Amino acid sequence: MTSIADNIDAIRLKLLKYESEYLRQAKSVELLAVSKRQSVEKIRAAHAAGCRDFGENYLQEAVGKIEQLEELDLVWHFIGPIQSNKTRAIAENFQWVHSVDREKLASRLSEQRNPSAPPLNICIQVNLSSEPSKSGVALADTEKLCKFIDPLPGIRLRGLMAIPAPLDGLEAQRRCFRPLLNEFKRLQQQFPTMDTLSIGMSSDFEAAIAEGSTLVRIGTAVFGARD
Ligand SMILES: *Cc1c(COP(=O)(O)O)cnc(C)c1O
Repeated sequence: MTSIADNIDAIRLKLLKYESEYLRQAKSVELLAVSKRQSVEKIRAAHAAGCRDFGENYLQEAVGKIEQLEELDLVWHFIGPIQSNKTRAIAENFQWVHSVDREKLASRLSEQRNPSAPPLNICIQVNLSSEPSKSGVALADTEKLCKFIDPLPGIRLRGLMAIPAPLDGLEAQRRCFRPLLNEFKRLQQQFPTMDTLSIGMSSDFEAAIAEGSTLVRIGTAVFGARD
């Protein structure tokens, strides 16, 4: 068994390697450690190894951990599906939300964010596999949602996020991410606060970096298998 610190060192080396291989600027891809169903002790170990940004999917679990780790200077990202009755707790406890896929969620997060807090950073979740049951807005409807979110107070439109269906092979993974990169670049012209492309997990982060990811969300490769 390797330690969490060893895992993080290995991932950081891979990020540098892929940045160089795919002609991305060095250190232009951030690591978000996905700590869902991982213990507070493991989060402390990742923090000691230099991680500051953590991603959680389940609100109740996350709020407990956020309270227990309050003395550390951590940045919390909500990355799971959102029920609209849970937006207040998300607005109060997180600095980022990656899974906004409808206007109602954005309005609620905007209204419920404490006006004296820094704006809540928002990524729009895009559905790349066009399965109707999956979360995420269709690529074709993303611009409309950006236009709705951009002027809202209390939140800041930062980018796009996607969780593609698992695919084998670098080329297939890259082909899946490519339309998202193209749309992201187009939207950046219109919405200059958009600087984040949140794609890439343990099994596809090379492809994501090749296709412009600025933030990879990695769980298993950091912490090992989830409980
Ligand atoms: C669980 C999860 C991840 C991390 O997945 P791994 O395969 O463990 O790296 C990334 N993003 C989201 C939205 C997740 O739910």
